[in-house]
Amino acid sequence: MKDRKLLMIPGPIEFTPEVMRAMGAPTTSHVAPNFIEAFGQALERLREVFLCPDGQPFVVAGSGSLAMDMAAANLIEPGDRALVVNTGYFGDRFGEILARYGAETTHVRAPVGDAPSLDDVEAALRADDYKLMTITHVDTSTAVCADVAGLAHLGRQYGALLVVDGVCSVAGEELRQSAWGVDLALTASQKAIGVPPGLALVVAGPRAMAAFQRRQSPVGCYYADWSQWLPVMAAYEARQPSYYGTPPVNLIWALNVSLGQILDEGMEARFARHRRLSAAFKAAVTALGMDQVPVSADKTATTLTAPYFPEGVDRSMLAHVKAAGVIVAGGLHPEIKSRYFRVGHMGVVNAADILATVGAIEKGLSRVAYGFEPGVGLAAAQAVLLEEN
Ligand code: PMP
Repeated sequence: MKDRKLLMIPGPIEFTPEVMRAMGAPTTSHVAPNFIEAFGQALERLREVFLCPDGQPFVVAGSGSLAMDMAAANLIEPGDRALVVNTGYFGDRFGEILARYGAETTHVRAPVGDAPSLDDVEAALRADDYKLMTITHVDTSTAVCADVAGLAHLGRQYGALLVVDGVCSVAGEELRQSAWGVDLALTASQKAIGVPPGLALVVAGPRAMAAFQRRQSPVGCYYADWSQWLPVMAAYEARQPSYYGTPPVNLIWALNVSLGQILDEGMEARFARHRRLSAAFKAAVTALGMDQVPVSADKTATTLTAPYFPEGVDRSMLAHVKAAGVIVAGGLHPEIKSRYFRVGHMGVVNAADILATVGAIEKGLSRVAYGFEPGVGLAAAQAVLLEEN
């Protein structure tokens, strides 16, 4: 029997064979011509994936938290005011990072599962003068998806720089950096970008770069400092060798392969696929009698789903789901941690993965003696999947 398990957590996700082959290729010098070409191409492709033709991409070894750190370190000077649109755990983290660089932070919060309304955010923007506003596009702790387009439009009216944590969204959830007026978007390799963990990815638009150039004080983090990374990125894009910190050669090859696959699919098709598979999975969750953490469908991510355990069921069910061949994640938000679980469905995920996951969840539910009609979740997911052309 195959002992392969399907990994359906909100990152790391499953990766394509081509990406994994790039990871296993013999490592060359970081100034080898074929590496320079791959790095340069990856930088160009990032602009297309972020839908930000005039953005400045940064690709640096690190995780998504480094990408957040990079945004804060380069855009914040001590005493600057920052507004955090907080939809969960990762909003808290952004607030801490901003404060570490001397920002005076204000959080606009909502109850768990909800997102602050545009009116609440506007009231905060009116009350003070903010240099920067952060939005977690999809908070992975709650599966809440923020209205980035609406928030960015609002933030612009009040002159704030718009910074979007897209770690659980970029290349899966619809995000149009330039068209929506987002000044900086960031992600990490291990989610919808489809590359093993280890890359911090940032695309900074013209207003963010101008704010950086206007800084009066040096950047407080040596490793994250754009003054060092900007010439490196420019050099690789011009197909010239450069060095600041040794780039993770295999990860960058893998990134270039994955970005090529993403663009072959096309951004619109990719957004649509995530929407469709998410709808199928969420239909199954509902049919199985489970509520979700996000309070309404319009505030729910398409990259992951966060179902509450049904009455009388707890996280012991997840071990049975795993035994049935699918790995899903437990809760993360401290207020509700033990009451829900999380299923990631982003990147190369397909309809077969969705049906396999629903099947394993049904198995898990039946093992803990939850009363439901077997197959009802599968039928609901399949009904959505059959709607496609
Ligand atoms: N922001 C969000 C929305 C995330 O989901 C994560 C990781 N789950 C991070 C930031 C931090 O990324 P990393 O774990 O790669 O440091």
